[in-house]
Amino acid sequence: MATTTLSETEIATSKPQSTKYVYFFGDGKADGNGKMKDELGGKGAGLAEMTNAGLPVPPGFTIQTEASREFMRHGQVSTEVDTQMDEALNRLEQLQRQKLGKGDNPLLVSVRSGAKFSMPGMMDTILNLGLNDESVAALAKLSNNLRFAYDSYRRLIQMFGNVVLEIPKSAFDEVFDAKKKQKKAKLDTDLDAKALKEVISEYKKVVKKHTKRDFPQDSNEQLVMARDAVFRSWNNDRAKHYRRINNISDELGTAVNVQAMVFGNLGETSGTGVGFTRNPATGNKEFYGEFLMNAQGEDVVAGIRTPIPIRELEKIMPEVYRRLHQITTRLEKHYRDMQDFEFTIQDGKLYMLQTRNGKRTGRAAVRVAIQMVEEGLITKEEAIFRVEPNQLYDFLVPRLDEKEIKPENILTDKGLPASPGAAVGQIVFTADDAVEKAGHGAKKNPVILVRAETTPEDIHGMEVAAGILTSRGGMTSHAAVVTRGMGKCCVAGAGEVQVNEHVREMRVKGQTFKEGDWISLDGTTGRVIKGKLKTVEASPDDPELTKILGWAEPFRKIGVRANADIPRDAIQARAFGAEGIGLCRTEHMFFAEDRIPHMQAMIMARDEKERRMALKKLLPMQRSDFEGLFRAMDGLPVTIRLLDPPLHEFLPKREELMVEIAILPHTDAKQKKSMVEKYARFGAKSAADLKKILPQVLSRVEELHEFNPMLGHRGCRLGITYPEITEMQARAIFEAAVAVEKEGVKAHVEVMIPLTATLKEMANQAGIVRRVAGEVFEEKGREVHYLVGTMIELPRAALIADEIAKEAEFFSFGTNDLTQTTFGFSRDDINKVLPTYLAEGILKQDPFAVLDREGVGELVRIGIERGRKTRPHLEVGICGEHGGEPSSVEFCHQVGMDYVACSPFRVLTARLAAAQAAASEKLKVEGGRTK
Ligand code: ADP
Ligand code: MG
Ligand code: MG
Repeated sequence: MATTTLSETEIATSKPQSTKYVYFFGDGKADGNGKMKDELGGKGAGLAEMTNAGLPVPPGFTIQTEASREFMRHGQVSTEVDTQMDEALNRLEQLQRQKLGKGDNPLLVSVRSGAKFSMPGMMDTILNLGLNDESVAALAKLSNNLRFAYDSYRRLIQMFGNVVLEIPKSAFDEVFDAKKKQKKAKLDTDLDAKALKEVISEYKKVVKKHTKRDFPQDSNEQLVMARDAVFRSWNNDRAKHYRRINNISDELGTAVNVQAMVFGNLGETSGTGVGFTRNPATGNKEFYGEFLMNAQGEDVVAGIRTPIPIRELEKIMPEVYRRLHQITTRLEKHYRDMQDFEFTIQDGKLYMLQTRNGKRTGRAAVRVAIQMVEEGLITKEEAIFRVEPNQLYDFLVPRLDEKEIKPENILTDKGLPASPGAAVGQIVFTADDAVEKAGHGAKKNPVILVRAETTPEDIHGMEVAAGILTSRGGMTSHAAVVTRGMGKCCVAGAGEVQVNEHVREMRVKGQTFKEGDWISLDGTTGRVIKGKLKTVEASPDDPELTKILGWAEPFRKIGVRANADIPRDAIQARAFGAEGIGLCRTEHMFFAEDRIPHMQAMIMARDEKERRMALKKLLPMQRSDFEGLFRAMDGLPVTIRLLDPPLHEFLPKREELMVEIAILPHTDAKQKKSMVEKYARFGAKSAADLKKILPQVLSRVEELHEFNPMLGHRGCRLGITYPEITEMQARAIFEAAVAVEKEGVKAHVEVMIPLTATLKEMANQAGIVRRVAGEVFEEKGREVHYLVGTMIELPRAALIADEIAKEAEFFSFGTNDLTQTTFGFSRDDINKVLPTYLAEGILKQDPFAVLDREGVGELVRIGIERGRKTRPHLEVGICGEHGGEPSSVEFCHQVGMDYVACSPFRVLTARLAAAQAAASEKLKVEGGRTK
């Protein structure tokens, strides 16, 4: 940093001596409570609350988040934190009648991170802290179990070495695996005390080698180092990345929980497990979870041993099971939400180690919310906020038939839900096999491509596969990103699955699967299930969904329209509840195979006459599309944007043409034939024509070439320079409107002029539209009501909105282009800088995904205000990608828009987001959703 003096904010936030940094919990009471998530983090608040409720929680203390923020600022905590921590440790030692790492009965603790919002797996926990060469012997004697003591110690060195001393995990794994090999041990548990003792001494060498010092034997030193490592881990890359994608502030910091250890690995009357009070995949009210006997901490989730379904605990330890069920039911009632909990059984005694509101799928969220209303646990108004709008996507993709899923057939439920939906198919292990086995046409077989991870070379296989399963990689791995783009089901990073591509084999839970075996994937929950399961189609009319929307929607103030270009999409959007079309991009009607030639002919035209000829061919096609849209929306508004795109999108690439001209003399008959086909739309009838036509096309492409087409000859500039285009489109619109009205369908027409920046542009285009409307109505002897408005997508338009509103009867904010032109970021190239911008914290979010309220949003606000100064009832909407993104929808509600428009698949999300925005305003609740 450039300056060494304290900044004003630092002075202002530097705390007086009296700050309470450390909160004790134990013996039935806690200094803190469940509401103090800001200070204690989610985990610490939960531990305090459970302690206060008299539940069996191992005692300990929480160092609050303020210490973490201090650590961020100064690279260390103040002495006051140390003092308070020492006091708390003293108190803990007295309560337990033990000393940390000392004596015959040494106190051992876990050091656990815990921020306000749960950040699963982001910051690592250290168990068994306090063990050293002396206390390990005491522990062995005390437990009468040498193996247990050594196992605990080697785990500490490993975790401490990795998390605190930042030694790569692999350094320890190598030692451990070598030992297993040497002793011919299959499982970790096959290593005996002697072997573990050897592991410990080799682990110590690893520590010495990497850090040039010995593994710390002083337990208090271990504790301080571990605490600071947790604070440091707040800023590790994984944590930063998680916060970014979940929109969690970097400023919050984390708490540290220090808690007396309980041991699930003391023998066959001990164990550890995790669970949910309801099924997080389906929302069904059932006790759900799993455990392992004789195991510690992460063993259950690490996938080394196969855990047992929680119901089995009833048989093994009925009393413990009953107590656990009773406690967690009570916790659910207390928190009034589904709980996700962790427990450990030590020598037959149950301890609770964590509870929090459980994450769940969209379907489960809806079901749990409804059932909790029925049970009288929450109100309908609260239920509205229990579902994340984005999660409603779950209702729009197919899913596995839950009735067919038998627990014993679940191969893993710990894969990442990388891309939602379901896929059922036969296993293949390479992209080429996928292509071969999937077949095509009538002989199509569903295949699941199973890989350790995917790379760009696998694309062809991914394209034909019904679903993808990978054993490595996260939510942003290649497989995850690509499949989400394809809208294809994917389970990624399923660590329990071992894939051997060479021998074409997949192993999981001791079973081996070969090419051709059937498996089923659930990309919504991350489950992989053996066998050929039935799938259930998407269900936007699901009765439970309808019910919860029925509670939410009466609050909603703004309309939700869809962006739909063709009748098929419009019909779908209406089924999802769209109340109109907010954006029909007329150029998209021309991407179809049979139409693009006419569009190209229109673009290639050298003069008005040629252009009119091409337009004449386009007219009937547009008209029939518009008729289809009007019929689909019968009476609901249909906003049609006149031709907007940079024309080059419709033409062959300049470079490609140059290459083809160069190679033409060297091509064989077959290649020539395919080139003739390709250029038929430009008039090529035989190979002989190519020599003449290719250069012609090239020269036209070069004439049309623009250095910056996104800011070029597009939008209303097109209709102003070539008024015949606007005329044709207006004619198609009004002829279609009159035609459907004659059939008794109601057409609600809104004609939208794109990319205006001046009143005169608007007046020019509106003039043509109104003139043609008059002509058509005259010819057909029938009038149709319509509006002419504009898309606001340039800063200038927003600033002079009062002028533009003189001619424009409605505004629709095109926030994709408005973001592009406000930031000066190219939409298509932003990914070169965005990752760095996000990593550096220069931008918090991708402004093309989440509306930038401060800048772009301010222009929107100004545009609405000025527009309505001229025209008080000006209709205002949004039609960018933001129209289906919950936080942006909330903004649109707040600035008083009449509607948002989004793609059909986001209509449900937008409806709920708009309802939540209005409800939270009315009910004065802070968007109390489950994080
Ligand atoms: P995470 O946030 O990754 O869940 P936790 O702090 O909850 O991390 O702990 C990781 C594992 O260690 C969990 O299984 C937890 O139950 C276990 N654990 C944490 N503290 C203790 C303790 N004091 N005694 C026994 N097990 C513990
Ligand atoms: Mg945990
Ligand atoms: Mg635009």
